[in-house]
Amino acid sequence: MNLKKSIEQFERAQKSIPGGVNSPVRAFKSVQTDPVFIKSAKGTTITDIDGNQYTDFVASWGPLILGHANDNILKAINEAAAKGTSYGAPTEAETEMAELICRMMPSIEKVRMVNSGTEATMSAVRLARAYTKRESILKFVGNYHGHGDFFLIKAGSGALTLGIPDSPGVTEGNAKDTLLADYNDIESVKKVFEENKDKIAAIIIEPVSGNMGVVPPKDGFLQGLRDICTQNGSLLIFDEVITGFRLSKGGAQEYFGIMPDLTTIGKIIGGGLPVGAYGGKAEIMNQLAPIGPVYQAGTLSGNPLAMAAGLAMLKTLDETPDFYAKLEEKAAKLEAGIKNNIRKTGIKAVLNRVGSMMTLFFTDSEKVTSFNEAMSCNTEKYAEYFQKSLKSGIYIAPSQFECLFVSAAHTDKDIDKIIQANYKALSEL
Ligand SMILES: *Cc1c(COP(=O)(O)O)cnc(C)c1O
Repeated sequence: MNLKKSIEQFERAQKSIPGGVNSPVRAFKSVQTDPVFIKSAKGTTITDIDGNQYTDFVASWGPLILGHANDNILKAINEAAAKGTSYGAPTEAETEMAELICRMMPSIEKVRMVNSGTEATMSAVRLARAYTKRESILKFVGNYHGHGDFFLIKAGSGALTLGIPDSPGVTEGNAKDTLLADYNDIESVKKVFEENKDKIAAIIIEPVSGNMGVVPPKDGFLQGLRDICTQNGSLLIFDEVITGFRLSKGGAQEYFGIMPDLTTIGKIIGGGLPVGAYGGKAEIMNQLAPIGPVYQAGTLSGNPLAMAAGLAMLKTLDETPDFYAKLEEKAAKLEAGIKNNIRKTGIKAVLNRVGSMMTLFFTDSEKVTSFNEAMSCNTEKYAEYFQKSLKSGIYIAPSQFECLFVSAAHTDKDIDKIIQANYKALSEL
């Protein structure tokens, strides 16, 4: 595999961009190699600037559930662009988007558009604090909610991958309002609530953890959180930036049948453009300016191109018959193939899957149901696995602590290709 141009471009980029990238995990640091620079992508195929082609299972970290450069989405963006790219004034498309989100996500009665998942989670927490008149929030070790100061405490995703879950630059004041509990351990949550009576504004959680690798919630865990919040006058915030529109039309809340008070969304909702949103009960959302006292704004929020792309995306998900059943079939086929490979090669590994998100953990542990078990993984092995996959033309996340995403664009051939590449890599490790 010739990566000459990518290597040159990475050297060039590092002179003017910190670490050469605009988001840390892109640098491939934890998989001990240099990043490939992308020239173009269509469907499930990515082409790098040296002309190498890969079958993509990263999907831009989740958004591309219809694959790259989807024709409907491109058409919508082009038509919108011809009419102007930003007005900073209301449009019909924003209302249409809000109506669609409210209809698709069970717990959302009103919704505000922002420009990223990070903005959504930061704003949702501000709103929860204002609404409850309390200052603390509870988050789970290894969950990632974007790069807001008060979330960078034992955070997952790139922060975890690079060994900086507690970032310098976050003040003690910020850190002290973030309380921590263990994912899938309801007793640890009860303990924090007992020790902080009437102080906790909200629990924020990834209903399926994706940012320490995929760790599903244990039976009853999410319901337990719902009950604790209701009993204590705290809000339950589902961070559905990954799971929203991925696990079902109505996200994890529909998938597991649990109603949060507030929901944050991002990734898929933008159809590949930079979009986030947060929504929930009207009574809470009505605290936002201009009708309420809680300030939150955005020059490019509800941007016409982003709304066009997002609407084309959500309408496709809403209107395609059996969309999620078909996605489940593909993902189940991939899961079965990889599990079969694990058995045949005898390698010590665990595959976790919920719907179209999954992670292959290299670990001696029998299961991965907690942060500590996720941490028991052999990241050196993952790095080797990543490199071998890339050489076989398979593009997966350059970190053990991320998801593999199956998209509707993946064909049987794509799934067979990754199963074969996975077998080859596992038998060589
Ligand atoms: C990606 C992610 C975010 C942050 O979204 P950005 O658009 O990267 O700011 C927040 N929460 C979760 C669960 C995510 O996976």
